[in-house]
Amino acid sequence: MERVVDCPVCYDQDSCFEDIQEEFKSYMCFNCGFMSSTYYTEDNTDRIRGSARLVKELEFYDETRKIYWYPSVVNMGKLGIIYPDGTKENWGWRFASVVKIDESEKENYPILGKEGEYYSERLDVDHAVEFGQYEFLNACQTMGIVGNNLNEHIKK
Ligand SMILES: [Zn+2]
Repeated sequence: MERVVDCPVCYDQDSCFEDIQEEFKSYMCFNCGFMSSTYYTEDNTDRIRGSARLVKELEFYDETRKIYWYPSVVNMGKLGIIYPDGTKENWGWRFASVVKIDESEKENYPILGKEGEYYSERLDVDHAVEFGQYEFLNACQTMGIVGNNLNEHIKK
């Protein structure tokens, strides 16, 4: 079950969803792009192991729910990836799409551990589209995972 809640991070009242499962709840705000779940408690220190430094730096503590919120990293494979970029003081969203690697360039993209094999596609991070801190929804729409009506956004 899903319902709209007030976002504790950006205070948006229309774009933050609480998804209620049997065992836990998860949260996703399409305005500021922050997410959390009831597993992200003080005790669960593994929650963001391996995440980028910026994700850790932007950690937000939700006093009401006693959980930590983090900016989302949305990796949709062939559709590309949405991620936060910049510094703690000045950051925004980036959408990098997947591009084909030209035959003439392929030797620059070897598959590690596989002799003579090369990637045929890569994330075009150099030409990532930039969005502001509160334009996460625009980034999702550009990626094509959310339509114009947020209430019909895709379920994970
Ligand atoms: Zn928010």
